[in-house]
Amino acid sequence: MRYLITILVGLTLHVSAGAQGPAPAWTASLAQIRATAAAPAPTRGSRPLRLNVAKFAESRRTKNFSVQGAPVEPSVQARTAFQVVYADRTAMIDAGMDEQVHRFFGRGVDEPYDAAVARTVEDALGRASAIMFTHEHGDHVAGVLRSPRAAELAPKVMLTREQVSVLTTAPQMPEIRLTPELAARYRVLDHEMYTAAAPGIVLIKAGGHTPGSQLIYVALESGREDLLIGDVTWHMDGVREVKGKDAPWVTEDRAAVLAQLAWLKELSRAEPQLLIVASHDEEQRLDLIRRGLLGGTFE
Ligand SMILES: [Zn+2]
Repeated sequence: MRYLITILVGLTLHVSAGAQGPAPAWTASLAQIRATAAAPAPTRGSRPLRLNVAKFAESRRTKNFSVQGAPVEPSVQARTAFQVVYADRTAMIDAGMDEQVHRFFGRGVDEPYDAAVARTVEDALGRASAIMFTHEHGDHVAGVLRSPRAAELAPKVMLTREQVSVLTTAPQMPEIRLTPELAARYRVLDHEMYTAAAPGIVLIKAGGHTPGSQLIYVALESGREDLLIGDVTWHMDGVREVKGKDAPWVTEDRAAVLAQLAWLKELSRAEPQLLIVASHDEEQRLDLIRRGLLGGTFE
């Protein structure tokens, strides 16, 4: 029986691979993302009006780490969080980090940390009606998990099942480890590929950089569409050239990340008006603020 199953599985794999090439390691459908955004959200209300970004720290590395084959030239990685502004409330995408976690990322090198901006992120978390994360790394989640106000923030924090699993079993650093008891105070989302999180906001499963990585789609009242891609790439050249990171300390599912980069490149060709935003691309951040597409401070 086991032999028969092996043959059948082998045949199925062979047939699907032979018919149209191997299935990509990851893919998504913009039509389904839009349909999810159009369906009734768990919270009622109109779509967001605008998006703001705050840069609370920097990492100074060379570009070759962010994009394989890029020159060994200085490249600033912005550490950021995003605020989604509705007419009557706000939501947060990512939560920043305290200075201790910031030092973990510096690996002994003293990198810039802006305590005043970090405080605006903290305040914005306190005022937000919902908080979600592009992924479970320290520079994105520590602002909630290590906050003295974590218990107060918890009821509005959406962690995915995959994010909780990593944070409880194999966190990026001990400082952000969740015990099962601590994890239980957050809203844990067992979600499908596409989940409406709030009016205009859709979470799209995109394990790759980490198991709990997701793309976050934000459809604004104006009709504009934004896609926050977290750390799928650290620089938008990664999307333009479909090239992954080349950082020895990063352990990610390379096949999934490359499939995501290819999908994003095709998306930017087919839907040039849709704004794809990488968390750490400092050149893109400055450009989007200059063009008025992102606000540069929190409200
Ligand atoms: Zn990051």
